[in-house]
Amino acid sequence: MAVPKRKTSPSRRGMRRSHQALQGEAHVECSACGELKRPHHICSHCGHYDNREVVGAGKALKGAVRA
Ligand SMILES: [Zn+2]
Repeated sequence: MAVPKRKTSPSRRGMRRSHQALQGEAHVECSACGELKRPHHICSHCGHYDNREVVGAGKALKGAVRA
């Protein structure tokens, strides 16, 4: 099995990890109610997607976070 010749220095490790930062979650305004929602997802506030109601507003959506 191939084995690294040298221990990775703290500098090298830091350079590798410079690309691993978490990105903020993307949000767009719902075209129906104006709440922020995730792009390409049903609005968790009003249940609309593509300008039509997909899920009833009072219905609980799996994994939905209501504000
Ligand atoms: Zn909405």
